[in-house]
Amino acid sequence: MQTEWIRDAQRSAKALLHRFGVAAAAHIRVESFAAKLGVSIVEVPLDGASAQLVRAGSRTTIMVSARITDPAARRFSIAHELGHFMLGHPSQPPSALCTPYAHRTAERDYEAEANAFAAELLMPAALLQRTCEVSPVDLAVPRAIARDYDVSILASAIRFVELASERCAAVFSSRGTIKWVAPSPTFHYEIARGKKLDRGSLAWDFFATGALAEEPQRVAADAWVTSSREWDLVEHSVCSRELGTVLTMLWIPT
Ligand SMILES: [Zn+2]
Repeated sequence: MQTEWIRDAQRSAKALLHRFGVAAAAHIRVESFAAKLGVSIVEVPLDGASAQLVRAGSRTTIMVSARITDPAARRFSIAHELGHFMLGHPSQPPSALCTPYAHRTAERDYEAEANAFAAELLMPAALLQRTCEVSPVDLAVPRAIARDYDVSILASAIRFVELASERCAAVFSSRGTIKWVAPSPTFHYEIARGKKLDRGSLAWDFFATGALAEEPQRVAADAWVTSSREWDLVEHSVCSRELGTVLTMLWIPT
């Protein structure tokens, strides 16, 4: 059922792109979209949340945390809140925060719906479908999308695997542990969140030694997935030294 709601969110973003005549990355101006929809944007000191949608009578305001200085993060936050607005989500209690990529299990996952809306609005399938049908797969295309569409590399990596036809998965790690996994529709192996990185992975090297070979390389598949036979997959890992995190793109060549 949840996937139907996610599709509805994507359809709603597509309708908005059509309404505003978006035909290129440069046309995706979220602040101007908000203004056309009668939604004002204000910067406020917000604790914990990056942004929040506030309705008072007939007025709707997106409050964006003044702490967000990264333009890509700001764009995503505004697009996410526009999602809550366009999808008619109920107002959140002040304690509920919008956290990107939060995982929920309820039938409706308002955060996932708003993220799906934001991803389609900022990285339209109509403009990117072909770009994501590439082989070999590594982080080169997600990097290009991040640059051209002014989004974070994490957002573009997730969007890439959603649209990719190859078997691939984006994996994000922090402190030697897998934090989230985004598989392509054709990637059928399970990679558990919360699992420690395997010593056989390139990503493990970064947390163990501080060094990382940031080139795509073949590694034994069992460094990442459970399999009864021996085979290789391609791992491309890049690190953020500042945040102490690693983003990995896995690819199973055919
Ligand atoms: Zn939210």
